[in-house]
Formats: sequence, C-alpha cells, structure tokens
Amino acid sequence: MDSIIIDLGYLCCCFELIYSRFYSGSSAVDQCNMFADRTVINRRNVCSDVKSAYRADRDFLSTVLKSRVIAAAMNVLGLENKTGKPSKFVLPPNIENLQEWKKLKLLLELAAKVVDGFIFQDSSHLVDRILTAEENQQVLQQQELTDDDKFPCRFPRCNAKYKYKKERNTHELSHDPPFVAEEPSVELTTAMPSPSLDKQYHVEDVYSYNCAVMTDAILYFNFLDAIKEGDGARVMRQYKYFLLYRRADKSRCTKYALEIIYQFFLVHALLSKRDRERFIWNRFVNNHESAISRVCKAEKATRTILDKLDGSLNRQIQSGKHPEGSPDKDIEELVNRVVDLDVFTETDGRHY
Ligand SMILES: [Zn+2]
Repeated sequence: MDSIIIDLGYLCCCFELIYSRFYSGSSAVDQCNMFADRTVINRRNVCSDVKSAYRADRDFLSTVLKSRVIAAAMNVLGLENKTGKPSKFVLPPNIENLQEWKKLKLLLELAAKVVDGFIFQDSSHLVDRILTAEENQQVLQQQELTDDDKFPCRFPRCNAKYKYKKERNTHELSHDPPFVAEEPSVELTTAMPSPSLDKQYHVEDVYSYNCAVMTDAILYFNFLDAIKEGDGARVMRQYKYFLLYRRADKSRCTKYALEIIYQFFLVHALLSKRDRERFIWNRFVNNHESAISRVCKAEKATRTILDKLDGSLNRQIQSGKHPEGSPDKDIEELVNRVVDLDVFTETDGRHY
C-alpha cells in the first residue's frame, strides 16, 4: 500500500471513531456534548455517518474543539470573560509591544498549561518519563560532544578530538591499555498510570467527556495538519501514539495498524539511513500525478499569494465565490455554554 493511502485511511478511521464515541442522538437532553452543540448552533448537515457528511462533520468538530480550547484556557487563566483580566496568571506589562518571539513563547507556555491540565491530566509525569530509545541516544550524543561539535577522546589526559565518532573510537583503542567505553544501556520505562486515574474518569461525566473530546480532536487535527504540511517525521511520531490509542478500539483498523508496524520495521530496522529519510519525507510525493494537475495546484498557491497582496494593498476584489459563513459566532455561543456550565471544573455527581 502507498504510504499516503495508509495515512489518509488511518485519518478517516480515527475520525469515524471520534463520531462513534462522542456523537449520539440519545444524549440530546444533556448539555455541552456534541449532539447538544449541534442543536445549539443549528448544524443540521452534521450526521453520525461521517462518510456521507465528511466536510460538515469535520468543520463542526473543529468548531467544537475551538470552543473547548478557549473555555479550558479561560479556566486555566482564571478569566471571567474573553476580554477580562486573568486572575490565575500574571501577564507581562505592555504585552502588545513585546517582540514576536516573546509573544510566541508566552503563547506556548499558556498552551502547555491547557494541555497538561486537561489532556495529560495526572499522567504528565508519566509522559515526561516515556522518552524513546532514539531520543535518549540523541541526548547522550549531544552530551558527549565538545563545544566545537567534535568527539573528544575519553582516555585520561588525552586531548585528541575527532569529527566522527567512529574515528574517535578507533583512536581510543590505540591507547595502552585501550579505552573501551561502556555503551550506555537504554532504560525503558516501566511506569504505569496510577490506578486512581481510571476511577477519576468515571467520577464526573461532563468534565471527563469534554476532556476526552478535546484530546481526540487535537490528535486528529494535529495528524491532519502533519499530512497537509507534508511533515513525514511528525506523521511517524504520531503513529506511535495512534497505535496505543487504537488498542482501545479492538475490532477496527487492524489492517492499517499492521501496515504502520511494517513501516516502523522499515524505518527503524530494515532501510539504510538514506532510504529511511527518503521513505519518511517522500511519502507525500505523488509520482503518478499528471503535469496539468500539478500546474493547477501551483496556480492555487499563486492565487493565495496574490490575494494576500491585494488584501494588504486594500484592493477591491470582486469575488465570484459564495461567501462562507463565519464560525466565530458559533464558537462564541458554545464557549458561553461551556463556561456557564463550568465544564472544566470537576464537580461531583454530574452525569450524562
Ligand atoms: Zn586519545
């Protein structure tokens, strides 16, 4: 199977799973779940059969996710409303005049608070400990380099250093007695989530449901984004989480899971370094595409640039397209409901 077919097939599988888990007509009387949200913002084209309404269902999920992320951020920051002042976080003064990278750093810090608080919850320490063998190796490799990025000889009082590790190791063996480094053993974590976690998920339906929707939707949109950007390394990284995640859904998508494991064999064991890079990064290159469709795609990119230019020059544009409805009003409506119900504060005894 082509890599891109596996990626897209798997993406669809995950999307179906989200709707089968979280979208149910029987929950119409409850508040702040996907079916109730559909009624609130009147998205009648959304339906549980995602194959027949993919576009509508995807846009709806995106609206639901955005509303949850905003409400969760308001909870973390202690905001009463969107224009209020945060009571749980001190923003730097003159925030408008900060440099772009400082603003971005602040944004990432805040985003991490939402992710740690509502997505990883108590398991964030577990995630910290789960470093892959590869990442461990990279860290160790970085540690043993000199300031000018060379490998120093580890024999006492020898100052030789080498560009390549292999060269250095050969040199080390020429000492008397030869220096043999112990390769650091890679420690695999045996950490398990604490058993109290399972219990916690059942205590409070409204909170747990909304955290779960947010987690699954973020996973899905992150994967979609990686495919759109052609970010092969991110796709491979996400597959690791997906395989674990899909174990909960026992019956479906086995064929894709097998294909993914096969890809891991290729990437981590069977292919040479060069072929591995090719395999990871060329997965989105379509060799069967005709020249005309490539030109069409290039035209689209050019048009986007021209549109932006027109926008910055305030040039009047006569658009032939139908205007798309802005989802901002819908998001605001949903945020208000989530905030009113105080969804992201655990309250005993709330059930769906
Ligand atoms: Zn030496």
